[in-house]
Formats: sequence, C-alpha cells, structure tokens
Amino acid sequence: MSILIRNGKVIDPSQNISGPRDILVEGKKIKGLFPRGKGPEADKTVDASGCIVMPGLVDMHTHLREPGDEYKETIKTGTMAAVRGGFTSVCCMPNTNPVNDNISVTEFILKKASEEGSCAVYPIAAITTGQEGEMLTELEALIKAGCVAFSDDGRPVMNSLIMRRALEYSKIFGVPIISHCEDLELSEGGVINEGLISTMMGLKGIPKAAEEVMVARDLLLCELTGGRLHIAHVSTDGSVNMIRDAKARGIKVTAETCPHYFSITEESVMGYDTNCKVNPPLRTDRDVSAIKGGLKDGTIDVIATDHAPHHYDDKNREFDNAAFGISGIETAFALGLRLVQEEVIDIKELIEKMTIVPSGIMGLSKGTLQKGADADIAIVDAGRELTVNTDKFSSMGKNSPFNGWSLKGSVRKTISMGKVHEWE
Ligand SMILES: [Zn+2]
Repeated sequence: MSILIRNGKVIDPSQNISGPRDILVEGKKIKGLFPRGKGPEADKTVDASGCIVMPGLVDMHTHLREPGDEYKETIKTGTMAAVRGGFTSVCCMPNTNPVNDNISVTEFILKKASEEGSCAVYPIAAITTGQEGEMLTELEALIKAGCVAFSDDGRPVMNSLIMRRALEYSKIFGVPIISHCEDLELSEGGVINEGLISTMMGLKGIPKAAEEVMVARDLLLCELTGGRLHIAHVSTDGSVNMIRDAKARGIKVTAETCPHYFSITEESVMGYDTNCKVNPPLRTDRDVSAIKGGLKDGTIDVIATDHAPHHYDDKNREFDNAAFGISGIETAFALGLRLVQEEVIDIKELIEKMTIVPSGIMGLSKGTLQKGADADIAIVDAGRELTVNTDKFSSMGKNSPFNGWSLKGSVRKTISMGKVHEWE
C-alpha cells in the first residue's frame, strides 16, 4: 500500500529540509520526497495542510513498566501513548521487575513489542545485575539480544570503579552508558529540591550537589576511559556548566534534559501536588534558565521524556511516600514548542533534539525522512491550541503536572512503520 502525504511543511533536520514537500510512503518505507503537488498517485492520500510533517520522534528515555508493573503501564499502552505524542521509537529503561539485566527479559520485551507495540521499542539493559551497582551485566550478550545502551536509571552506579569498567566496555562495544547522576548519600530521604521551599514545606530536600558530584565524577571517568557517556535528565545549572566545560575540553559526552526541567520550577510543588514529585527534583528559575541556555548552545543535545507513568494509588498519598515521576510522553513535543515560541531554539533545532540526535546517540537508523528509511512520520498542527486532559491520555499513567495547561501543538497523525494513527 502507498500513501502520499500532501500539502505539509516538511522539516527534516537530518537532510536540512524545511519547506513544502509531499512524501510518498510505500509499505513500511519512505519512497521519496517531492516538491508540493508533484508527488505521484498513491492508494491513499493524507492531507497535511497547515501542519508540520517531521520524522517520527525518538525518545531515548522511556519507562514502559513491563514486565512487572503492568498496573502502571504496559508495552502496549506505553507505545500507544508514544505515537499519541508523535513518537515512533522509544528506548525503554531496564528498571522493570525483573530488571532487564539478562537476555530473557530483553527477548520478552522485544517479543511483546513486536506483537502489541504501536511503535519501535529498543531495550536499554542494566549496567549492573539487578541494578544493584555491584556486578556488571553480560554486555556483549545483551547487545546481541537487541539492547542498544546500558543504564541503571532510577539508580546511579555508586562504585566509581564499576562505572569506569562500564565506560571502558562502552568504548569497545560502541554503545552508550546512560548515567542517572545521583549521589545516594546526599539525596537520602529527599523528595524535592533542597532550598527555601523545602524548608518552608517541611520536606527533606535533595541538594543540587547530589546530581552535580556525580556529573563531575562521570565526566572525569569519561575523560579517563574515552568511553561513551550520556548524562540523563540534567536538572541543574552546575551540571550544564560542567558538561559545557567538558565538551570544550574535547570530552565526548552527550546529555539530555526533559520538558519538566525547562517548563516548571520547584514552586509547582507548593500545593503538595505529588504529580510534581520527580527525580531529579524540579529546581529553581536559575536552573531553568541554565537548561535553556544549554539547549540553545548545544551543551544539551537531546530532549527526552523520562516518561514515568504511575498508578493513581502510587501518587495519591502523602508527599514523602508518593512515587517519583511524570507521565510525559504525550506532552513532550508541545512543551518543547514553547521553547520555540520563546525563541530559545528554533523549530528545526527542537526537532533535531527529538529525532536524529537521539537516534544517532543510540545507534538507530531512525529520526529521518530519507528515501529508504522506515516510514515513521509525525504530522503536527503547531498552531492548534489544546488543553491537556490526562483523562484522555493513552498512557495508563495520568500523573502529569501539566494537566489543564493550554499548549500549542497538536499531533494530528503519527505514521509508524507505514501504519497511520490519527486523532481529531
Ligand atoms: Zn533517572
């Protein structure tokens, strides 16, 4: 079956294209791009008038919760949420139950994804068995089974020697080590950013240094080993500054932040809304500015979602005991567009940070509309304003601090491997 996507404005940073084009899809592949109105006849046409047509987004940091926590999210619902948000590739973190630290879990995820998934799923394996930080997993076997990166996300690798070894292997195998930077002693018991607000609210704070000491350590270990380090969910000004300096020194590190770290601050938690409880915690205006600066000058390469769906019962409890995380994959692109509206970055840079750059870091052949590439395409009406309504999320996780927000940028259609998903 062939599909012609007509009348849209195609933005594909991987080919430096920004302008009116028609796209021909045949089966699961992109057959070619044509000047507007010059595309050939097809079995089906999709009208993208007034919309941006871009490569399907690539999320390098997603929690799908399966196996083990299917009451929070499943591979089926998580990938439905992904396509709803314009994503066609997600890399899923290993902190499931059991942990993805051996090939039987990897194989289970890939099988489920091929049977029930709405988009491509790439498993990330744990760095250490059980994410306990003590023994490296069988990296080579996990890569052969289909894992694309390693991370103990949710937890750091506290032992520097083990992190060193992981980075050494990452160089040999050419896969990234994704570091969740948190010094567990410094963050112990903390639930929000440490500062005036944590004192006022009587909640234990997590100092920025809990993140920054680990960013510093991992940058040094990256320099020592020449390994492939990627820093997850950067939340502080200090982290941005250190990564910027490291890149200037020639250290080959990459970094991501998430929409909540450039959209809201610790002030959001003042009503004790547990949907604002996230790890690392929401920080200050100063950190938000630094993160925007990092996105602007390229210090921060990627916008990832850290989509962390939870059940109502995990969040509907006293702040101290509520789960950390935000169900973010369905609001990520619209929140990213606010950076464009504020002229922090332009639309091409936004799409780049959500497609070809994460795809490149993870070694995927995604995030591009090049002829012959997989037919993964998102069609977005960037001017259309919608009110976020978590009840309508495809994700089982309704935990979003953005519920009720008015956001411009509505995903109208997502084409994943040639299959069209569309919404009103
Ligand atoms: Zn994390």
